[in-house]
Amino acid sequence: MTRRELLFYLRGLGGATLLAGESFAARTDLLPSFWKNRLPDVDRAMKQAKKGHVQLLAKSAGQRDIYLVTYGQKDNLVSTANYNSACGGNDPASYRRKDGKQKPVVFLLGPVHGQEIEGVVGLMNLLAVAETGLDLYGRDWPDLAANLARCRLLIVPVGNPDGRARCSVDSWVGADPHVHERIGMGTQADGTNYVWPMVKRFHPMQGARVGQLGSYFNDHGMNLMHDDWFEPMAAETGAYLFIVLLHSHNSRPSVEPTAYVPRTVKETIRTFANRLYARYRAAALPARDSGPETEEDGATFPPPSFNLASALHHVCGSVAFVHECPSGVKEGAPVTHEQILAIEMLLYEELFQFAVERPVRWV
Ligand SMILES: [Zn+2]
Repeated sequence: MTRRELLFYLRGLGGATLLAGESFAARTDLLPSFWKNRLPDVDRAMKQAKKGHVQLLAKSAGQRDIYLVTYGQKDNLVSTANYNSACGGNDPASYRRKDGKQKPVVFLLGPVHGQEIEGVVGLMNLLAVAETGLDLYGRDWPDLAANLARCRLLIVPVGNPDGRARCSVDSWVGADPHVHERIGMGTQADGTNYVWPMVKRFHPMQGARVGQLGSYFNDHGMNLMHDDWFEPMAAETGAYLFIVLLHSHNSRPSVEPTAYVPRTVKETIRTFANRLYARYRAAALPARDSGPETEEDGATFPPPSFNLASALHHVCGSVAFVHECPSGVKEGAPVTHEQILAIEMLLYEELFQFAVERPVRWV
């Protein structure tokens, strides 16, 4: 064990015990070598990238670096209108005239909730495939690498570095779900956990109502899924085909429905979800039975939120959705570190295949 690995391991155990004040089953195994999700891991991967073009996209509220890594050339198509106005003109092609021959664009936004570290593990392994063809386990992914090379890929490895820095745990496999909840959503002034969905009834999460700020939030108490979309938001103006927001929860892996987007987009999300779930079942991984229904939004009260995924569609016409990976906490869907990696890697493999099969045609 190297010193770094030892620190990595101790930090995971110590943080959980310290913050929780309750017993967290101390693992005696070392976290596997492919399990990279700390900010220093990301910094190192950014420095080591050779094929990918790394840029500083933004600074977080806490002045931490938010990186964007890109693979493949950006198109230089003529755009005469933003997506919204192009749709108003009955012609999305005024935003980007695409005839199906352009490289599909896949944008993977790493977790905007800091405790959802499984998505960072996945992206660190995808970056390794993009750079070397092998994941951090040393496994070959020839189909994924081939399809990836036919796309333009954008990766933000960590969407909320402030929240990740506040998360003292590096793996949730076997952890107490109450500790997961506390570190993720934080505590009220009296020390009791915030819980979903009540945690979203205070935004930004600031002031006297905060005991310990959860990893959900950036350093200004913002939950990035629920920003005010009519304020200027940072978004690449290119035509994104797919925007996938990587999340994790304690249930079986899922593709979540995106509200307030066109029916055709909802149908594409459902089709993709069904393919992904079939893939998970074939690999003996936990999977839901079928993808999200293409329902009318707000047919019953209360209505769904117009969240980050909804907003990203309306910025650029993308098929934007949230993927949730199990965290591995006790009482949730039981998964090992290896299975979490498989859930993320099969997501990417299906996603790039899907994107290559279905290029955008806006003509
Ligand atoms: Zn989340």
